[in-house]
Amino acid sequence: MTVRSTGAKRAPPPVEPARQLSLPLFDPLHAPPGASGPGASSGGSMRVARLCEHWLRYELRRSRRRTIGFVIDERGLRVTAPRWIPVDEIEQALQDKASWIVRKLAEWRAHQARRDRLTVRWEHGAPLRYLGQTLTLCVAHNARRTEREGDRLLVGLPAQARAEQLKDRVQCWLQARAREVFAERIEWFDSRHGFRPRRWSLSSARTRWGSCSADGSIRLNWRLVHFPPEIVDYVIAHELAHLRELNHGARFWQIVGDLFPDYERARAWLRDFPEDTVSH
Ligand SMILES: [Zn+2]
Repeated sequence: MTVRSTGAKRAPPPVEPARQLSLPLFDPLHAPPGASGPGASSGGSMRVARLCEHWLRYELRRSRRRTIGFVIDERGLRVTAPRWIPVDEIEQALQDKASWIVRKLAEWRAHQARRDRLTVRWEHGAPLRYLGQTLTLCVAHNARRTEREGDRLLVGLPAQARAEQLKDRVQCWLQARAREVFAERIEWFDSRHGFRPRRWSLSSARTRWGSCSADGSIRLNWRLVHFPPEIVDYVIAHELAHLRELNHGARFWQIVGDLFPDYERARAWLRDFPEDTVSH
């Protein structure tokens, strides 16, 4: 294999073999299970650095690119660097970018923590987010139907029921609650502000929380029932505002603000929550 100089000033030293160090991602003390060990990385070598008082695991890949590049996503930090740049120089580049890297990784962690809170385990005793509270799933063979009892959700199924059956029952219950809660809030916005959709329905779209059509109908994602009530209100206010302004212009946001004054906070909260992170 030839190592090409890609125009950088320094001459390439002899190729050093990629070092294999199996320590992936964020924090050596809190590494995800199964993420360490040979083969955990995808082609690069795993390294550890200390940035802003945090121990940080990262993947180092060597490539033909001219500069050192950083990518941060759900897998953590990956660094791509030209083959001839020594590791201490790469580590200096990490130090130069330390506060940005640590901030981005913290954002990803917060994002994953939210996602984990919404991922439902379909088993007895598992937590279920409902209107911002946490209920506990209880498979109860003597319960006649699915019903809430305090902070438990009793599901009438035999103890050996499959996860799929539990999921069907609970989703059915959640959708019925979504229908009730949304109807009540739509009624409230109508009585308080005089905004009423021509009709509305539940959706289970994978890409959006709500939508509004030019014919005056709105659709609301039933999975919103997992979220705190103010987030539900914000999405409804947002779609109702589209009844007057079918765009996201200044006038639109003014109407949203009239309907739901604290919309900026709800909007930021939801922005961290792409719909595809809700897995059922
Ligand atoms: Zn919109």
